[in-house]
Amino acid sequence: AKKQGKDTFEYYDEKLSEDVHDQLVIEQALKQAVQKNELYLNYQAQYDLNTKKTKSFEALVRWNNDKLGFVSPATFIPIAEDTGLIVPIGEFIFKKACEDFMKLKQIDTTLEYIAINISSVQFRSADFLNNVKTIIEEIGIKPSQIELELTERYIMDFGEDSIKLLNELKLLGFKMSIDDFGTGYSSMSYLSKLPVETIKIDKAFIDYIPKNNNNLQITKAIIALSKSLGYRTVAEGIEYPEQEDVLSDLGCDIGQGYFYARPQSFEDIKNSLIL
Ligand code: C2E
Ligand code: CA
Ligand code: CA
Ligand code: CA
Repeated sequence: AKKQGKDTFEYYDEKLSEDVHDQLVIEQALKQAVQKNELYLNYQAQYDLNTKKTKSFEALVRWNNDKLGFVSPATFIPIAEDTGLIVPIGEFIFKKACEDFMKLKQIDTTLEYIAINISSVQFRSADFLNNVKTIIEEIGIKPSQIELELTERYIMDFGEDSIKLLNELKLLGFKMSIDDFGTGYSSMSYLSKLPVETIKIDKAFIDYIPKNNNNLQITKAIIALSKSLGYRTVAEGIEYPEQEDVLSDLGCDIGQGYFYARPQSFEDIKNSLIL
């Protein structure tokens, strides 16, 4: 049954992660996932809250294994990180996302960039910068058409080398965003020293606003501070019109979530742009 809902996948994910034995099973299967063509990307629209138009997409990896079925990235990415498999997997994702973006850009020339999640292990790997440079040259995509999403938790314990690399990427023209913002307890004053232009507010804070006053106040403060420091803000996990209303009023720049679109296959995105 291919058309199972997302909830069904979650159910299997939980069963799997409960069992250490299954971690090894996943690891073994993951080793061959790239070669066996089991990994593919979905894309989720990012909406400009001012113009109400899609300006970009976030690439989200998917894995469908013949024995394990669909395994959520929330389950297999950490395993890929532990085993180092995230390096070839991340390279595959980066390349594929760039290729697909160039195809979409031909259909909709107003698209601005593709957002790609970069794992800390991948970012720290020796060849990251060279691989990225080789791929973008090969594909003919500009760095300014790529936004690298790095999680706040990781950025928090950045060493000298990582900051140097961030600056190099910035010089090349890449966009960079701090993903899952608000979950890492970092200080804005630290972050403001980093060459990053986008703050992506984690879904945990977008949930239940405006009803949940704590979340509302936190989101308000993040957006206000971000704006005053010159950051662009993205809110993820918007599911209801009430959330959009509030975020729009607060001056959040970009919205992402099921309210606009679920992550979709490349074919579906392509067709929706043609129509
Ligand atoms: P993330 O980067 O914070 O991605 C957002 C997650 O929230 C995605 O889950 C997305 O499908 C989901 N989401 C988006 N809008 C909504 C909404 O309105 N409601 C709800 N309930 N969920 C929403 P997904 O695709 O399962 O990915 C989970 C995490 O796995 C990602 O969190 C990211 O940390 C990681 N991940 C996914 N793809 C990649 C990838 O290509 N590379 C790396 N390194 N990590 C990835
Ligand atoms: Ca999931
Ligand atoms: Ca992300
Ligand atoms: Ca998140």
